[in-house]
Amino acid sequence: MTATLLRTYLEFYQDLGVKELYRRQRGADTVVGGVETPLDATPADSPQIVSEPRPSGSDPAPTTHSLLKILEDIGDCRRCRLHEGRTNLVFGVGNPQSPLVFVGEGPGADEDAQGIPFVGRAGQLLTQMIEGTAGKEGIPLKREDVYICNVVKCRPPGNRTPEPDEMEICGEFLYQQLLEIAPKAICALGGTAARALTGRKEGVTKLRGKWLKWRDIPLLVTYHPSYLLRPYNQSAKREAWEDLKKILHFVYD
Ligand code: URA
Repeated sequence: MTATLLRTYLEFYQDLGVKELYRRQRGADTVVGGVETPLDATPADSPQIVSEPRPSGSDPAPTTHSLLKILEDIGDCRRCRLHEGRTNLVFGVGNPQSPLVFVGEGPGADEDAQGIPFVGRAGQLLTQMIEGTAGKEGIPLKREDVYICNVVKCRPPGNRTPEPDEMEICGEFLYQQLLEIAPKAICALGGTAARALTGRKEGVTKLRGKWLKWRDIPLLVTYHPSYLLRPYNQSAKREAWEDLKKILHFVYD
């Protein structure tokens, strides 16, 4: 089992309210996650993957379980050359039932090291943008309330832009994630995400702030946070804030 899959399983158990995990092991008592665990625990003691029963006739809830299935399908992926430099596959993070999904380009060094999207400098700015804008607009929203993922799940060498074939191969899994979550709106961060989701070739400055669609889901393009970190792009920051206000009010009003 990969570290990413293991982490996702553990987060899933946590979401279900599971506080203790049991590990089968011979020898002295073991501590797993700060909890003393009995050693004679059988697999039957382990949490099972279950999904909430839903009223008949309704669509199945987009649980972490269904996202886990996608992650399992990705497996120890070697479908494109990006796997060669990968430390961790970066699948996605956040609320699998979020009405809002942010899609970036691909993991950078920090994300590759941790297996979590947007945890580096650009990620910190994204968090500030989400929470700061929402706060100012009177919308109680934290980063963990939304879902965040990327077009490609493995870090492109030297943070280069993903190649079209890499985007096409990995894009299939992004589409599956979006279909599973079925958000009310998608925010495409930067030109690569915009291209992957809309097929439009224009640059971000042309596309940003306009309502587009991925399948039937409203999609708004805005600047990638990495672009906003560059000192000469400060005027774009104001526009990005405008874009965020627009999508937050659309989703949460
Ligand atoms: N840039 C991205 O596009 N995605 C990340 O996860 C981090 C930086």
